[in-house]
Amino acid sequence: MIVAIDGPSGAGKSTVAKAVARTLGFSCLDTGAMYRAIAWLALNEGVSLDDNEALGELAKTAEISFVHEAGDPLPRRVIIAGNDVTEAIRTSEIDRAVSPVSAAPAVREALVAQQQRIGRLGNYVVEGRDIGTVVFPEASVKVFLTASPEERAHRRVRQNVDRGVGSIDYDEVLADIIRRDEYDSNRATSPLKPAPDAHLLDSTGLYIEQIISEICELANQASE
Ligand code: C5P
Repeated sequence: MIVAIDGPSGAGKSTVAKAVARTLGFSCLDTGAMYRAIAWLALNEGVSLDDNEALGELAKTAEISFVHEAGDPLPRRVIIAGNDVTEAIRTSEIDRAVSPVSAAPAVREALVAQQQRIGRLGNYVVEGRDIGTVVFPEASVKVFLTASPEERAHRRVRQNVDRGVGSIDYDEVLADIIRRDEYDSNRATSPLKPAPDAHLLDSTGLYIEQIISEICELANQASE
C-alpha cells in the first residue's frame, strides 16, 4: 500500500510521514531528499543548474540510497554516489539550488522512475510534491498537507535549530518558503497541486499528533 503525502515546504510532511510510517509499520520515502541530493551533486561537480541534460544525466547515473542508523527502524541517512549528504542537503545553499534542479524535466523523469521502483517493493509512506498526482496516482491514501507560510517558517526554524543546520533567521526562512512555493507551484513540469482525490489537511494551529492519527485512520479505512 502507498500513502502519499504532498504539500509545500515546511508543512510538517517529514515529521508526519515518519510518524505515520512508524505507526503503520511501513517504510518511508522522502523524495525531497532525492532532489536535494542531486542539487548537492550538481554543485559539487560544477554542473550548471540550468543544464537540463547534464542534470538529467546525473540523476540517471548517480545512485541514491537511504541507510538505517543502528537501532533506527527508518532509513534516515541519505547517500549519493558514495557520499553521506544527510546534513549537507539541508543548508540554505541547497534550499536555493534545489528549485531549478527539481524543475528540470530530465531530473524529474529519472527520479520519478526511481521512486516508483522503490515504492513497488512494499508498503510505503511517500512524501513530496507530486506523489499523488504523478508518481503514485493509484495510491490508496492521498493527503495534501499544508499550513500558513508563517507557521511553516516557525516550524522550519525550530527544525533547523534541532538539526544544527540551515538558517535560523525567521525572515530569511519565511522568504525562502514563499519563494519556493511560488517556484514549485508555477513550474511547467509537475507543479505542486493537490490530486483531485486528495484529502486536504491544514495543520495551522493543530497539533501534529492530530494530523498523524487522521492519516493513520485513513490508511486503516483504505485497507479494510
Ligand atoms: O521536501 P523538501 O523541501 O525537502 O523538497 C526540496 C525541494 O525538492 C522542493 O522545494 C521541491 O522543489 C522539490 N521536490 C519536488 N518534488 C518532490 C519533492 C521535492 O519537486 N516530489
